[in-house]
Amino acid sequence: ASEGSSDPVQSFELGPENELRFEVDGKNKVIMSVRAGMAEVFGTELVKEKAYTFLAGSKIAVFTWQGATIELRGKTEVSYVAKETPMAMYLNCHAGLEQMRKKAEENTELHGPVLMVVGPTDVGKSTLCRLLLNYAVRMGRRPIFVDLDVGQGHVSIPGTIGALLVERPAAVEEGFSQQAPIVYHFGHKSPGSNIKLFNKLVSALAECIKERTQANRKANVSGVIINTCGWVKQSGYKSLTHIAQTFEVDVILVLDQERLYNELVRDMPPFVRVAFIPKNGGVVERSQNVRSEARDARVREYFYGVRSPLYPHSFDVRFSDVKIYKIGAPSLPDSCMPLGMKADDNKTKLVQVQPGNNILNHILAVSFANSLEEEVITSNVAGFICVTKVDSERQMLTVLSPQPRPLPQTLLLLSEIQYMDSQ
Ligand code: ATP
Repeated sequence: ASEGSSDPVQSFELGPENELRFEVDGKNKVIMSVRAGMAEVFGTELVKEKAYTFLAGSKIAVFTWQGATIELRGKTEVSYVAKETPMAMYLNCHAGLEQMRKKAEENTELHGPVLMVVGPTDVGKSTLCRLLLNYAVRMGRRPIFVDLDVGQGHVSIPGTIGALLVERPAAVEEGFSQQAPIVYHFGHKSPGSNIKLFNKLVSALAECIKERTQANRKANVSGVIINTCGWVKQSGYKSLTHIAQTFEVDVILVLDQERLYNELVRDMPPFVRVAFIPKNGGVVERSQNVRSEARDARVREYFYGVRSPLYPHSFDVRFSDVKIYKIGAPSLPDSCMPLGMKADDNKTKLVQVQPGNNILNHILAVSFANSLEEEVITSNVAGFICVTKVDSERQMLTVLSPQPRPLPQTLLLLSEIQYMDSQ
């Protein structure tokens, strides 16, 4: 507590159902604590008098149902108390889901709700997922979180889709614990870069989740919460309907956009409940720049950790010891394809990549697959490495890796995501 004693201290009195919103600017950090009453951050209860540290770039809302006194120590970019929030409505959504879970508990023929959150960018989709997951675990449930937002990557790093079983509320500063997630490599920041591959991975993940929930009654009763990305037009919309179908979604929450709501009401079968809900006014719009910084931060976090520091390894790998592939060959017109093959099939083909400057600073996914005979594309990935140096003369790569050498597998998948290691 001795650090930053000269930092400005602000104290806020929050009435019932008020929300304190703040952002941490530049290189600062802000320490927040609850002095009186009870409050939560995105559905995780706060411990009174505990110091929570938020790093630069954090955009936080501290909400209280009954009223609370909150103290902030350190420089905030903005900080204000909002009296209007849609939290009561979000709590209603949670109550609705809880009823479905109770029914599933009583009747083994039923399963818990499979819910999908959709909406344009920056409406708080990820935050709503986190809130609903937190409320569910606080009731003793064990829901599955599916993250299909390849742009940010809340389960793993950007450029992936994934799922995890949520067994405890998200840590206030770090989010959900990432034990044994299922992670598939996609390799792009937007589903539109290879929609065919995206849909294939979504189907594979849905299949995998179905198997897991069938084997785990508690997870089956608790249900699934699916986060999607903000691309909601044309092919983006089509991919949302594909997600709904393959995951056999029961409920869709549409944040903020009435047009999307109307389209889904029109196109979904009658047993799918579609609900429109307003966005929280505090959700901060993020520029391209801020998004790309957030992506970077996410990758840095993967290698270096957030608070408890991790120490990644750096080592050399011979070109000849690895096989690097990217997914998707350039498309040819159908007329140029061998008989019976469509140009589309190219989009999920593995194409070998020769190591060179083309892979410098790129992320490579380490596949669990041993050989090309296996279903490489839909295999879970073991982890990620980053290429920090390419020495063509010595035929050597230098990589950053969370694990010491040697690499657990030699089949690597190239991602378009880049990371400049400057630590
Ligand atoms: P994307 O388009 O990237 O998928 P999204 O719709 O999932 O975005 P979120 O990531 O949930 O949006 O929220 C955007 C940002 O706003 C996050 O940094 C989050 O911490 C912040 N935020 C969410 N709710 C609030 C709030 N009530 N007050 C202040 N900040 C908030």
